[in-house]
Amino acid sequence: MNIALITGGSRGIGRACAIKLAQMGYYVLINYRSNDAEANATLEQVRAAGSDGELLKFDVGNKESVETAIAKWQDNHQGEYISVLVNNAGIRKDNLMMWMTDDEWDNVLGTNLNSFMYVTRACLKDMLVKKYGRIINMASLSGLKGLPGQTNYSAAKGGMIAATKALAQEVARKNVTVNAVAPGFIQTDMTKDLEEAELKKQIPANRFGKPEEVAAVVGFLASKEAAYVNGQCISVNGGLYT
Ligand code: NDP
Repeated sequence: MNIALITGGSRGIGRACAIKLAQMGYYVLINYRSNDAEANATLEQVRAAGSDGELLKFDVGNKESVETAIAKWQDNHQGEYISVLVNNAGIRKDNLMMWMTDDEWDNVLGTNLNSFMYVTRACLKDMLVKKYGRIINMASLSGLKGLPGQTNYSAAKGGMIAATKALAQEVARKNVTVNAVAPGFIQTDMTKDLEEAELKKQIPANRFGKPEEVAAVVGFLASKEAAYVNGQCISVNGGLYT
């Protein structure tokens, strides 16, 4: 059985990735933090796509929660391993640096960047032992370009891109690839407070993207065909210059 773990897999881009990987035949572990109804809806859609999966509820920014949940799953599934990991869970808490609180900084760095370390470390050993793995990190335009009002989020996503490049070089010999995807503006709950009509004027495609358009790239990076793509960050942004 080929198994994929998607953090923040219950809504938005993570849900689209869960469905894409299900269509590719993966058994999908759907991580989320709190919204049980959305997580169950995603599991239904994974099943409708012809595969199966299960819910793994834990806070990716909490080291003990991550380690306990993944170790428990591994103990209960001896002989199986997570071969595809999509580090997708993320939050925004925008503020100008002048007014940014410690909580806004710590929560965004914890959920978007520390999570990458906790979850990846817990899954990496099995990939190295089995000599096959795919790690895909959900970065952002904000991590490439830097966006005002997002010093916390830009720092987290920029750090994730740099970590992607470093880890790719550590593990490439074991047939493990580590790549990042950098979406621009995508229609999800995360962007529903933004002025799409105004912002789309800056986007050459003249529209926000769809979660499925990000998931298509994740599906490629997760595939066997992407074996020689490593340490890259692929933008999915409708042509926004970065
Ligand atoms: P959404 O807000 O739509 O969904 C976020 C998902 O992450 C939910 O499944 C949520 O679960 C989960 N989540 C949030 N915090 C935690 C946590 N601490 N532990 C576990 N799960 C958590 O976000 P998007 O789909 O828009 O974003 C997905 C990723 O893509 C993020 O990393 C984001 O930064 C990135 N991105 C998004 C862009 C966009 O335009 N939408 C642009 C660029 C990057 P629950 O509902 O249970 O809280």
